[in-house]
Amino acid sequence: MTDTTRSAFPVGTILGYPRIGRRRELKKAVEAFWGGTITADELEAQAAELRGVTRERLAGLGLGRDDASIPESFSFYDQVLDAAVTLGALPSRFAGLADASGHVDLAGYFTIARGEGEHAPLEMTKWFDSNYHYLVPEIGPETSFRLASDRIVAEFEEARAAGFVTRPVIVGPVTFLLLSKPSDEAPEGFRSLSRLADVLPVYQELLARLAAAGAPWVQLDEPALVSESIEDPRSEVLDAVRSAYAALGGAAERPAIFVAAPYGSLDDALPVLAASPVEAIGLDLVRGTVPSGLDAATASALAGKTVVGGVIDGHNIWRGDLEAAFGKLTSLLALSPDVAVSTSTSLLHVPHDVDDEPALSDQLKSWLAFADQKIGQVATLAVGLVDGHEAVQDALRAASAALADRQAAPGVRDTAVRARTAALTESDFSRGDYGDRLAAQEEALGLPFLPTTTIGSFPQTGDIRRARAQLAKGLISEAEYLGLMRDEIKRVVDLQEEIGIDVIVHGEPERNDMVQYFAENLDGFAVTQNGWVQSYGSRCTRPSILWGDVSRPKPITVDWSTYTQSLTEKPVKGMLTGPVTILAWSFVRDDQPLGETARQVALALRDEIGDLEASGIRIVQVDEPALRELLPLKRAAHADYLDWSVGSFRLATAGVRDETQIHTHLCYSEFGVVIDAIRNLDADVTSIEAARSRMEVVHDIQTSGFDHGIGPGVYDIHSPRVPSVAEVTELLETALAAIPGRQLWVNPDCGLKTRGYDETVASLKNILEATRVVREKA
Ligand code: GLN
Ligand code: ZN
Repeated sequence: MTDTTRSAFPVGTILGYPRIGRRRELKKAVEAFWGGTITADELEAQAAELRGVTRERLAGLGLGRDDASIPESFSFYDQVLDAAVTLGALPSRFAGLADASGHVDLAGYFTIARGEGEHAPLEMTKWFDSNYHYLVPEIGPETSFRLASDRIVAEFEEARAAGFVTRPVIVGPVTFLLLSKPSDEAPEGFRSLSRLADVLPVYQELLARLAAAGAPWVQLDEPALVSESIEDPRSEVLDAVRSAYAALGGAAERPAIFVAAPYGSLDDALPVLAASPVEAIGLDLVRGTVPSGLDAATASALAGKTVVGGVIDGHNIWRGDLEAAFGKLTSLLALSPDVAVSTSTSLLHVPHDVDDEPALSDQLKSWLAFADQKIGQVATLAVGLVDGHEAVQDALRAASAALADRQAAPGVRDTAVRARTAALTESDFSRGDYGDRLAAQEEALGLPFLPTTTIGSFPQTGDIRRARAQLAKGLISEAEYLGLMRDEIKRVVDLQEEIGIDVIVHGEPERNDMVQYFAENLDGFAVTQNGWVQSYGSRCTRPSILWGDVSRPKPITVDWSTYTQSLTEKPVKGMLTGPVTILAWSFVRDDQPLGETARQVALALRDEIGDLEASGIRIVQVDEPALRELLPLKRAAHADYLDWSVGSFRLATAGVRDETQIHTHLCYSEFGVVIDAIRNLDADVTSIEAARSRMEVVHDIQTSGFDHGIGPGVYDIHSPRVPSVAEVTELLETALAAIPGRQLWVNPDCGLKTRGYDETVASLKNILEATRVVREKA
């Protein structure tokens, strides 16, 4: 292909669209397949139908039918897994799933994602600083690469048959390798990036296939270029970008290449991409800024490419400042005459449609833009780019008016809340000396050596969900609901007493979700009805909308906790979600620094903790599973983040007496990365995931000199497997070998809400038996 035959990049596009469906159709279809009620062919047919409906909708919203502006961003489970199966890059334990050509069928694909029997699934981890989780490919010297799936080509052809020319999307080679981890076979020090040269021919073959199918453009997502890898030196990453795009760009038969770099700014990767033969580069101009101060070579190279300005926030739901977005596009015109408008990231992170939310007030809705509204914004800005500002000024003004209305609306700024945060001093953030606290708590609580507890939730049974649904529909009264929940709490307390657990929880039956529950009970939040967002696979969450100043109209959990404490002599652990996690798992206002919003949430929680303490609750857990997730991708931003995130946790928890024990819970095992943050939380006890990695984390705990209470999980609650007494005993002994016994707590990895009762009871009994064994030996 020569330049003259290339079709122009579309003036307006998006990097990706939610694939779960407006009514979670994909979730339902996939789960039906897993449950055996539909066949693979039926699942394929339903997915094809969903893709068809999606393309029609995107065209209806203003994306072109035949100019490659509609991204082909469907996935049955995860786009990184899709790249792995496309490249045939599977760990050896899954070799049996592939046929002679390396192809894996749908059932096999899901086995890799979810595990089966002896086959542990691929590990799952957070996708950049979002709450989406991807599957981590495993690469070693033994991994063979070949084009093992033509799904990407087939979906393009499917679209074509329906009258569309779409833009295939795949994770780019550098990001694919950077996100991979070494396989079991890989020697110490192996880095996946060393396999780049072996991956590129497969990408070349794929590009050739797409070109043959008639695809004018392909999108290669390279978000890893905006973050700083810990293992891979930046110079090697940049070298990889250079050679990857020289190779792909140099291929004879290929579509035009659009490299998208969502979630941050490209920085020193921009000159490298500019110097490469790719035709279009996508910049995230919500997180990053319009590049300036470019060297002459980069400037002249960029001038020959399409610069795609990601000015519409793909990560949050605000209608935002369209005038400012248009301004950014205008300044891009100084870099290249060929500018297009896009979203900053895939719209995967936002719900489908504001118009699907009849319960939200019209005023709030006028401030919002979900995926479909954002496409409308892209379409507007595209018109502006082509026809000039005047052509779209009404739409830009309407957005500005909505923004002004939002700034002035009651509740967005609450004087009482502002006065409280303004009056905070150093001492509001600190508790007394840890040694004094420990002595006071040992005295007050009288817990045994290796105290046992759980993370908070017990299985959410069908009965519990039904009761909640009936209450929502008005089929049962508030009093009846309360009665049902109290019965459930009593059952859970009795069960814990019977098993012999030392610190009791109430089981969280009244909570639909650990963030939404608090959002529903605090001022400043709204909740959606259909605002589902994919978290991983078929799992979706419905983030709340934090739109205004946050305060607590009345106590939230106190009645539940005191009722629970009335049922037992043992200490009951109050259970709250921390400020960072509430922010991370909500759509948060973007009109003030996150730290300010976090302090408001922290003060509401501080009042709650004070009320719990005053009514006799001696232990309070404040969950912060999202502490790691919000860690900025650029190291330069870490200090500021850790300052406000850790500060808000401390603000929430520092108001209690020495003898009141504060716990926190973190959902991951990457202790080392955030050890200073964890230490600075100054929680008396921290529970952390550890079972899947067989207690690897205790090594980090030991070397870090962490000296507060710590409960490395001994039960992997992500699996239905029941750990044996011997297994838990071994884990506890591993922990004890590294950590002084006085610090050690015994608990599962995380909450039990997704587990069934049978395996939960069996597992907890084994944990208690193992604890007895280890206590006796000590
Ligand atoms: N307390 C919560 C529970 O047990 C914690 C959940 C989490 O860490 N994600 O469910
Ligand atoms: Zn957890």
